[in-house]
Amino acid sequence: MPLSMLFFICFALGYLGYRFHMLTKSGALLTVLVGGVVVYAFGYQGLLVLLLFFGSSSLLSKFGKARKQTVDQIVEKDGARDGWQVLANGGTALIASVAVLLTNEFDYLLLFLIVIAASNADTWASEIGPLSRKEPISIRTLRPVRRGTSGGISVLGTSATIAGALFIATAGDVLFDLTIKEWFLVAAGGVLGSILDTLLGGTVQRKYRCQVCGKETEKRVHHQETTEFVRGFKWLGNDAVNYLSSTTAGLVGFILYRLW
Ligand SMILES: [Zn+2]
Repeated sequence: MPLSMLFFICFALGYLGYRFHMLTKSGALLTVLVGGVVVYAFGYQGLLVLLLFFGSSSLLSKFGKARKQTVDQIVEKDGARDGWQVLANGGTALIASVAVLLTNEFDYLLLFLIVIAASNADTWASEIGPLSRKEPISIRTLRPVRRGTSGGISVLGTSATIAGALFIATAGDVLFDLTIKEWFLVAAGGVLGSILDTLLGGTVQRKYRCQVCGKETEKRVHHQETTEFVRGFKWLGNDAVNYLSSTTAGLVGFILYRLW
């Protein structure tokens, strides 16, 4: 497929995402930027990997919506994705693409695939995990917490994590003809990223408490009132946690790949 056609597809996706309220304006602009550079570095296969991530996450977010309403009350951002959210998941994918273009080293494909696998694993876990019949256990206190709480783990959510990582690793294998070692590193890196996300989300990510209903939340405003800060690092929100965990997993996997 000619590059101009692929750029056009990226532009159309950003526009449609904005038009159908899946992306804010900044989210749409950054989607076009990330998509354009990924396509330039990794061809249509790179774009397909991104599409599989965004497509499957969007589908899963619609799934079991009624049972996940309480989750929207807890998570920092619900609704259209903004530029920060796009960068949290796509920032290092963008850097990996630029690295390929500058160095002609195709090894950076592994970094790209691992960060997307980690983002995908984490998103699948946070969309499917809350449908668990059993209450999740907090990784910080080891006690049950409300479904959708960052740092909560359940059997269902953990299974979704593994499936989400395998999904991108296998797609990567089909599209880029990976070796078994590369496939394994992408899958394991994806799971590692999601584990780091749970650890950071449950321990150091900032948390607030609603003054009206008394529940813990990631939101600054709950029940139309400003929430009260309870714990974590004040500067460390959900986007930063997503970025740090997927990027750390990507770098660990990439370094292992180079040494192995
Ligand atoms: Zn409230």
